[in-house]
Amino acid sequence: MRDFTLHTYKKLLNSLLKNGYEFQTVEEFISSPKEKCAVLRHDSDIWPKNDLKMAHLENELGIKSTYYFRVPETSDEFVINEIVKLNHEIGYHYEDLVRTNGNFAEAYNNFEKNLAFLRNFYPVTTCSRHGRPLSNIDSLHLWKNFDYKSKFNLKGEVYLDIDYSDILYLTDNGSRWDAHESNVRDFVPYSRHTLSVSTTFDLIQAINQNRVPNKIILNCHPARWNNNLIIWSYRFVLQHIKNVAKRGLKKIRS
Ligand SMILES: [Zn+2]
Repeated sequence: MRDFTLHTYKKLLNSLLKNGYEFQTVEEFISSPKEKCAVLRHDSDIWPKNDLKMAHLENELGIKSTYYFRVPETSDEFVINEIVKLNHEIGYHYEDLVRTNGNFAEAYNNFEKNLAFLRNFYPVTTCSRHGRPLSNIDSLHLWKNFDYKSKFNLKGEVYLDIDYSDILYLTDNGSRWDAHESNVRDFVPYSRHTLSVSTTFDLIQAINQNRVPNKIILNCHPARWNNNLIIWSYRFVLQHIKNVAKRGLKKIRS
């Protein structure tokens, strides 16, 4: 069975359900985390139609998750409206400081404008920074100069406002769950939990064997999960090239 298909994703969600995890959106989790819970964070980098497929699948299982959209790259109005109807949370996947080449004032204005656009569809209260590994600029640094909570009435930024010390955070970056050496920006502050799994099947086994802590946040990029064999194969080859390039980039910067 192929990994990173929606079939496999469904198996993953079912294993979490079967083992008693309650699903919360990022906003719900920041406000009031449950004792045993799973948070599905989806950064919509490309191909928003994939977001919709994933959102339908989750809804069929009675699960709520959070979709972060880039503006304008993935903020497809039809897709966002449909995902809102399916009861999921919408947030802003921002990269404004990179876009403005480090100009803080311009980035701040862009952020405000793009957030306002997304709020036409949903009362956005959380955001997640898009990594842009090829840029030297990290859009998270925008908040060194500005306070997003009071300025923009936001409850949280996923890298800054979650205490990960008691949470297992895993990302599918690199189309593996352990691509640490090719992961340039998608990592969180200290957590006492680690889990050595590479494939989704390993992860499912770990969940079933009770080797996963009570709080888990999964960052699943919908564009990585494809049932279609041609698209899946394309992603597989592309991902291999990207992983090699990002490993090199990380070495150069370190
Ligand atoms: Zn991203």
